Amino acid sequence: MSNKVNFSQTEIIRKHFPQRDVHGSISMPVYSSAAFEFDTAEEMEDAFLGKNGKHTYSRISNPTVEAFESRVQVASGAKHVMAVASGMAAISDVFMTIAYAGSNIVTTSHLFGNTFSLLQFTLKEFGVEVRFCNLLNPKEVEKQIDENTCCVFTEIITNPHMEVADLAALAEVAHKKNVPLIVDTTIVPWNVFKATDFGVDVEVVSSTKYISGGATSIGGLILDHQTFDWRHSKRLYKLALAVREKAFQVKLRGEIGRNLGASLSPQVAYLQSLGLETLELRFRQAAQTCLALAQFLQTLPAVKQVNYNGLPDNPFYEISKKQFGDYPGAMLTFSLADKTDCFAFINRLKTIRRATNLFDNKSLIIHPASTIYGTLAPEYKKMVEVPDDMLRLSLGLEDIDALKADILQAINT
Ligand SMILES: *Cc1c(COP(=O)(O)O)cnc(C)c1O
Repeated sequence: MSNKVNFSQTEIIRKHFPQRDVHGSISMPVYSSAAFEFDTAEEMEDAFLGKNGKHTYSRISNPTVEAFESRVQVASGAKHVMAVASGMAAISDVFMTIAYAGSNIVTTSHLFGNTFSLLQFTLKEFGVEVRFCNLLNPKEVEKQIDENTCCVFTEIITNPHMEVADLAALAEVAHKKNVPLIVDTTIVPWNVFKATDFGVDVEVVSSTKYISGGATSIGGLILDHQTFDWRHSKRLYKLALAVREKAFQVKLRGEIGRNLGASLSPQVAYLQSLGLETLELRFRQAAQTCLALAQFLQTLPAVKQVNYNGLPDNPFYEISKKQFGDYPGAMLTFSLADKTDCFAFINRLKTIRRATNLFDNKSLIIHPASTIYGTLAPEYKKMVEVPDDMLRLSLGLEDIDALKADILQAINT
């Protein structure tokens, strides 16, 4: 695991809260207040014009949320970070910042369920076209891009298919056509995956997952690396002439975020700041368990196939290693004989919990076809291609021997 980061970040917290707390509290304060008051009308005017950096109203900004954003910024190396109410809020805020009626988004149909639905149904009704293609083939991607393409979008490891696109190759075709590459990096955190090394311009993250730590809360992050020249964006062109690489940040924070109003609550910012402090430790432990369990599952005759990018016989092993190192996340999928076997196996588990979500401290199992993708009409089920004999397992922090024993007793009886 490279890129060691000090996640406790005492200096950043001191910068945000420079006066020593009257009680000497060692944790950062939670400003659970909708509004902030001022001594004078002049001070208030300056605050609303953004001249004195003071908070006015917590939908716009909040001291606890701002401290969380700062900590993520320092840990990730992004130029600007905005925290929002969920991963889906992060994704929708990003598309609302760059897309327009008549524009198109070039992506794959192998996406997280709600992201697929946002693109296929919600944005479509606002006149945004979605071009699903095979992102594993950069030439095909290049053909799909035209003057109305507002971005190329993907997830770094598709869930639950576990495909890994060559991001540097995608960035090359996108940038050649003056289009930004925007990726969902929820599945491998930035202590392991440095998105800018592969040409990613903007990252979206569901902080509900690795960052919350223990699945305490829902949250999302938008990480802006300010590497794209937004003068090439039809939507941000004018703004980019004035503020250059900050055009996306200014539009997102100054207009879209506050108008859509999916702001993060200070309580959640606090909880997720705590999660941030142990992110690296938890990730390392869960990812090591995931690799060991993937190898273990491969030895079981009842398991038809195991899909984890860290296995040397995985078709994405090389590209995954290049992008994520030895531990490409802590989620794997595997296949049993059929849906009936999957259900029977799930029902017999004692340690592994039956729940959706990823990267909780507890290991979680789900049958994606009947749950996350269960309500899709048959034609869309065909598009997302989630097989009926497949299970998704997200690894937590339990002892590996306990997890192996649980799987053995569930698979044998
Ligand atoms: C969970 C998830 C989301 C959505 O995040 P929420 O916090 O649930 O809104 C988006 N993308 C990926 C890859 C996810 O795993």
